[in-house]
Amino acid sequence: MKVPFVSLNTINKALKVEAMKALEEVYDSGWYIMGDKLQAFEKAYSHYCETDYCIGVANGLDALHIALKTLDIGLNDEVIVPSNTYIASALAVSFTGAKPVFVEPNENTYNINPSLIEDKITSKTKAILPVHLYGQACEMDLIIELAEKYNLNIVEDNAQAQGAMYRNMKTGSMGIINGTSFYPGKNLGALGDAGAITTNSSELDKKARSWRNYGSPQKYYNDVLGFNSRLDEIQAALLTLKLEHLDKWIIVRQRIAARYLNNLGKCDWLKLPVTAQNATHVYHLFVITTVQRDKLQAYLQKNGIDTLIHYPLPPHLQQAYKHLNLIKGDLPIAEKLANECLSLPMYIGLTDQEVDYVCDIILKFGNEI
Ligand SMILES: *Cc1c(COP(=O)(O)O)cnc(C)c1O
Repeated sequence: MKVPFVSLNTINKALKVEAMKALEEVYDSGWYIMGDKLQAFEKAYSHYCETDYCIGVANGLDALHIALKTLDIGLNDEVIVPSNTYIASALAVSFTGAKPVFVEPNENTYNINPSLIEDKITSKTKAILPVHLYGQACEMDLIIELAEKYNLNIVEDNAQAQGAMYRNMKTGSMGIINGTSFYPGKNLGALGDAGAITTNSSELDKKARSWRNYGSPQKYYNDVLGFNSRLDEIQAALLTLKLEHLDKWIIVRQRIAARYLNNLGKCDWLKLPVTAQNATHVYHLFVITTVQRDKLQAYLQKNGIDTLIHYPLPPHLQQAYKHLNLIKGDLPIAEKLANECLSLPMYIGLTDQEVDYVCDIILKFGNEI
C-alpha cells in the first residue's frame, strides 16, 4: 500500500463545483484585490476566531511581521519565541529589528513551556509569541499572567491551529493581535499563499490595514513605510467557502489522531503527542518521537509510507541565525525533538485502512528492534 504524507485531492474533489463557481465569479467581476470577497472573508474569519477584526494579508509570515509592527516592536526590543517552531515565527521578529529570545518546549506537548518564560524576560522584552504548534493550543494561563505582570503583549502564531481552543478561547483570539497562515497545506489552506491577522483592537486593526497596503490608510497618503501584503479576491473567495467546512475537517483530523493513538498506545519505544489539560488539538500534524527516528522513517518509506520531519534543524542552529551566537547544546530540548520527531500521514481523505496500515508497519518495526 502507498500512503502519501499529505494529499488535498479529497477536499479538492468534494469542493470542485462550488470552488470553480466562486473563482468564476471573481474572474467575471473584473475586481481582483481589496474587494467584496476579501471583506466577506475577513468578516467570516473574525467571526470564526471570535475576534472583532480580521485583516487578510499575503501570507502567514507577513501576518506575524505586520502584527509586531502595529505594536511598534523594533530595534533593541526582544520577543519571546519557542525554540521548537517553524522559522517563520522567529523571522517575523527579526524582520522588525527585534531579537527573538528562545524558550524551550514541553517535551510532551511540544509547545512552549510557560514555566521557563519568566527567566528570559528582560527590560527589553516587549512581547511573547506563543506558537500553537502542530495544531495544539499552548497552555495560555501562565503566559497571560506573565504578560500582565510584566506589561508584555501576546502575539499568537496561529498558523497551524485554526479552530483550536484553550479553555473557552479560540486560538487567534487570546493575543492583543495575532497572525495565521493559509498556506495550501495548513488546516485551512488557500490555492497559493495567504494569511490573516486577528485582533479585538480597533486601533491595531486600523494600523494593520494600513501596514498591509503601503502604509496607506487613505489612497496615495502614506503614514508609514508599509508593505504590499494583500489577500487577493480569488484566495478570499475560496477561503470563505472552505471555512464553512473547517470544523467538520477538524473532527476528521481528531478521529484520525484518535485511531493512531489507540493503535500505537502500547509502543513503549516511541512517544505519542500529548494534549495538555484545557487545550484542544486540531492535528495539523501528528508528530511522534523516538530515538529510532531515522531508521523508522526509512522503514516506513520502504513500505510505501511517506513521512516528514517538522523540523530537522531548530531556528537557533540555522545558518541564518548564526549572529545570535547560539550553539548546539544551548537549547537541548528543541535539539532533541529535531532529532527524534517524525510526522505521520495526516490529511482529510486518509482512510482507517491506511492509518491501520501505517500503524501495523510501525508495530512491525518495533518488533524488529
Ligand atoms: C506556515 C507557518 C508560518 C508561516 O506561514 P506562511 O504562510 O508560509 O508565510 C508561520 N508560523 C508557523 C508555525 C507556520 O507553520
